[in-house]
Amino acid sequence: MSKTIAITNQKGGVGKTTTSVNLGACLASLGKRVLLVDIDPQGNTTSGIGINKGDVAYCIYDVLINDIHPNEATLPTNIDGLNIIPATIQLAGAEIELVPTISRELRLKKSLAQVKKQYDYILIDCPPSLGILTINSLTASDSVIIPIQCEYYALEGLSQLLNTVRLVQKHLNTSLQIEGVLLTMFDARTNLGIQVIEEVKKYFQQKVYQTIIPRNVRLSEAPSHGQSIITYDPRSKGAEVYLELAKEVIMYEQAAR
Ligand code: ADP
Ligand code: MG
Repeated sequence: MSKTIAITNQKGGVGKTTTSVNLGACLASLGKRVLLVDIDPQGNTTSGIGINKGDVAYCIYDVLINDIHPNEATLPTNIDGLNIIPATIQLAGAEIELVPTISRELRLKKSLAQVKKQYDYILIDCPPSLGILTINSLTASDSVIIPIQCEYYALEGLSQLLNTVRLVQKHLNTSLQIEGVLLTMFDARTNLGIQVIEEVKKYFQQKVYQTIIPRNVRLSEAPSHGQSIITYDPRSKGAEVYLELAKEVIMYEQAAR
C-alpha cells in the first residue's frame, strides 16, 4: 500500500515545510520508502534537506510542464529511503503556464501515478496559496495533513481551506480525506497555545494528532544546515516529537486496514 499525503495550509509559516522534511525523514528512519515532492516555488524543502538548487537538472516544474518522468527528476538525500523531487524558482511560472493546458488539475496525479508503487509514502509540501499547484497536490493525494500554528488567528482561513478540500472532493478527487490536523509551534508557557489546542480539538475532534509539535530551536536551525532534525540533532525534543508523529501516521494507516 502506498499513500500520498499533501501537507497543506494556505497560510505561510505554519510548519508545512518543517513537517514535510522531518516527517519524511522520520518515516524513512522507521524503514518506510518515502518520496518528498516539493511543489512550493520557494523550494524550502529542497534546500532544507540539503539539495543545492544550482545542481538540480530537472525539478517538479519539468515533471508538471515538460512531461519529464518523475524518476528522472528524483534525487536521493543523505537519509536512506528518503528521495525528493526538488523545486526551484522556475516553478513560479507554472501557475500561469498551467492555466491554458488540458486537464491542468490532474498533471501531478498522472505523473506521480507512474512512481507511486515505488514508495510507502509520498509527501507533497504545498505552497502558501490555494492556487493551481495546491489543487494539483490535493487531486494527486489520498489525504491531507493540515498544520496549524498554535498562535492567535490560528483558525483564520481554515474554512477557505476546507472549502477547497470539499471542492476537490466533489469535482476532482472523490476519495480525498483529511489525514490529520497537526498543532505546531506550541509554547507551553502561554495560555494562548492551550486555548488554540482546545479550539482546534473542538472543531476537528479526533482528527487532531495526539502529537503536538512544540517550539524547538533545533527544528528552526536544522534547515540552514541542509539537514532534517534526525541527522542534525537526533536527541532533541524536535526529533523526538516528529518521530512520535511518524509512528502515529503509520499507526492510523494500519488501523484503517
Ligand atoms: P511553512 O512551510 O508553512 O511556511 P515552515 O515550516 O517553513 O512553514 O516554518 C516557518 C518558520 O518557523 C521556519 O523558519 C521554521 O524553521 C520555523 N519553525 C517551524 N516549526 C518550528 C518549531 N516547531 N519550532 C521552532 N521553529 C519552527
Ligand atoms: Mg514552506
